[in-house]
Parts: sequence; C-alpha cells; structure tokens
Amino acid sequence: MKYFILFGPPGAGKGTQAAAMVEKYNLHHISTGELLRKEIAAESELGLKAKSLIDAGALVPDEVVEGMIESEFNTVKGVDGFLLDGFPRTTAQAEALDRILEKNGETATSVVSIMIPDEMIKDRIRHRASIEGRADDAKEETINNRIRTYHEKTEPLVEFYRNQGKYREIDGTGTIDQVRQAIFDLMDKF
Ligand code: ADP
Repeated sequence: MKYFILFGPPGAGKGTQAAAMVEKYNLHHISTGELLRKEIAAESELGLKAKSLIDAGALVPDEVVEGMIESEFNTVKGVDGFLLDGFPRTTAQAEALDRILEKNGETATSVVSIMIPDEMIKDRIRHRASIEGRADDAKEETINNRIRTYHEKTEPLVEFYRNQGKYREIDGTGTIDQVRQAIFDLMDKF
C-alpha cells in the first residue's frame, strides 16, 4: 500500500489536487477537515466539540483525528493506497501515524507538499469563501489564527519528513493544471 501525505498551508490547493490524485493512482482520500465538517453537519458529540475549535482557527485534539485516520485505514478496501490531506498537522500526529503504519508493517511513502507564500493564502481563502461558504473561511481573525497555527504547529513537520528523506515540495503558485502536472510527475516515481 502507498501512503501519500498531502501537505501545505491552508488554501494551498490540497483539496483541489487531491481529487485528481486519488483518481489517477486509485487512492482513498482522507481529509480530516472534511471528516470533521461531516461530524459538525451531523451535530454529533464530536462535531459539537470540534466546531468551536475549528471556528477559532485552532486544531482539534490529536487523539480525535488519529482515531479517524486509523478507522479509515481499517475499513477502506480495494484501493492501492491512501492520500492523507490535512493530516498529520502536528509532530505528535506524525509520530502517531508512524506507529499506526508500523503496526501493519507499513510506512509513509512520500510527502507531497504544495507551497504558496503567506500573501497568497488569504487571497485563496477569500476566493474559496465566496464559493464554498465554509464558516472557518469567513472571518479574518479565524484565517489569521489558522495561518499562525500552521506556522507554529504544522510547519515543523517539514523538518520531520526531511529527516526521513520523504519530503518533496511543489510550487503551488502556478495554475491548477501546472500544479497537477508537477504532482503527477513526482508521484509517477513511487
Ligand atoms: P485547511 O487546509 O484550509 O486548513 P482543512 O479542511 O484541512 O482546511 O481543516 C479545517 C480545520 O479542521 C482546521 O483548521 C482544524 O481546525 C481542523 N483540522 C483538520 N485536520 C486536523 C488535524 N489533523 N488535526 C487537528 N485539527 C484538524
């Protein structure tokens, strides 16, 4: 099984590119953000707890998303691998992922990182807000907190995966087609 990790700041285009990646390489897409938004829509206990954190631009607790990931690994069959989108987002989550995969004799295949500069993050999110209507895209303060959370908690994973020799970066500032082609060129090697 292949385990690709789609990495990058909010608004980098992970969701857009994920759709093409899962189709071409027969992967199952796991977006922790999407899974959490489904819990919120269903007004589950977990969803209610997650909502206030997400609306504040903070992260939900590591154990919550780790449990979601493990249960997807255990239930989804008939694919050549998984595409993790929005997970791991902290060093603790990355370490948990290594442990979960190790239990099954597996290991992360590669990190595909889509990078855009901070100035671009806000433009992309503002644009998405007008299309998708996500609550966490609407408020300037929430967006600022998400960017801060990304730099503080998530960016250290670049070093984590560089040290494992698994970090590959793509320039996310091009057109959707250009970024997709760069990702395919990279993934074809695995
Ligand atoms: P984006 O990539 O634009 O930040 P996501 O849909 O990936 O959007 O995530 C939306 C929100 O869901 C995050 O800001 C965070 O609050 C929560 N979330 C998603 N994934 C995780 C995770 N792995 N750990 C903790 N919180 C998460």
